[in-house]
Amino acid sequence: MAKSDGPGSPGAGVPIIDLRAQVASMEGEIHEAIDSVLDDVGFSNGPAVRRFESEFATYCGVGECVGVSSGTSALHLAMSVLGVGPGDEVVSVSMSFVATAWPVLYLGARAVFVDVDPDSYTLDPDRLEAALTDRTKAIVLVHLYGQCADMDPILEIAARRGIPVVEDCAHAPGAEYKGRRAGSMGSIACFSFYPTKNLGAFGEAGAVTTNDPELSARVRMLRDHGQDRRYRHDFIGYNYRMDGLQGAILSAKLRHLDSWNDTRRALAAEYDRRLADTRVTLPREVTDGKHVYHLYVIRDERRDALAEALNERGILTSQHYPVPIHLQKPFGAMGFAAGDLPVTEEVARTCLSLPLYPELTDDQLGRVVSAIEAERG
Ligand SMILES: *Cc1c(COP(=O)(O)O)cnc(C)c1O
Repeated sequence: MAKSDGPGSPGAGVPIIDLRAQVASMEGEIHEAIDSVLDDVGFSNGPAVRRFESEFATYCGVGECVGVSSGTSALHLAMSVLGVGPGDEVVSVSMSFVATAWPVLYLGARAVFVDVDPDSYTLDPDRLEAALTDRTKAIVLVHLYGQCADMDPILEIAARRGIPVVEDCAHAPGAEYKGRRAGSMGSIACFSFYPTKNLGAFGEAGAVTTNDPELSARVRMLRDHGQDRRYRHDFIGYNYRMDGLQGAILSAKLRHLDSWNDTRRALAAEYDRRLADTRVTLPREVTDGKHVYHLYVIRDERRDALAEALNERGILTSQHYPVPIHLQKPFGAMGFAAGDLPVTEEVARTCLSLPLYPELTDDQLGRVVSAIEAERG
């Protein structure tokens, strides 16, 4: 793999993400956040976590936020409190990171994958109804790459059938759909604060948001060993608490999230403009709202060759995601096979994520554009 020689050096490579640059941009605030936890010694689930929960609930426009240990544990708790269990079906998308669907297997349920819309790569509302049965316990959708799924028709079908909707917002903190924020539209929503996400912790962290106080109370109980009073365990619980340090860092970073998302959007618009005449397929903003470009994903018929050629020019790329969930081995028992989800499989075969993060410089973006022009101009 080619490596970055560091920003600014002539002929330097372009990394896929640069967390060092983000830390450097707010080092003072980060030290203050760390010091606050040294002072209050709330190392697990302490005051800093409670403060972040309240700030993030306000940010998302919801009544409740529960901080947890990761996006995966958020999804596990969300599906648990909706009562997903053996014999149930969960209707979801295969065009995502595998963690979207792990909890379906943890809980002994069956995943039923529906194909995605060919322009937005999010759950295709026209295919939803046919996938629902009497056993459908939940619909789990993903705001993929930072663009909200087409929520209105999905929520209408779900409400008519009385099925709760889970939003996987791992790519989409701050994204909007018709004026509503990601994480405020379904019955319950899950966020990941993995370091590379738009809002990244200093390690592992996640959150569950909802407007339903009963659901959030159960999530709070299950994340802490299923206890509502000390050493009284009425439910099977987990240790999915958030570290105090993560809460403090996330509060500091949340103050920058809108400006980082705006910068991501501006950089994406610049890629759109400068790649318009090349032969690669560009991402599209389809739904009425705010795409926050967690990822800038182009498509190309000869993706692997393009990735290799860019790598040789020092441009690092990635693929989100090269193998759809229904074709991953642990999901084999769900009865899906290659060819079942043509749009999903086509995107998996052709997708290529370009470097995009708020600290990406004009010069770096220009080098990515020139390399693609040279290969696909
Ligand atoms: C990152 C991610 C997750 C999992 O989050 P973790 O914090 O890594 O457990 C879930 N869904 C999607 C779409 C993700 O990108």
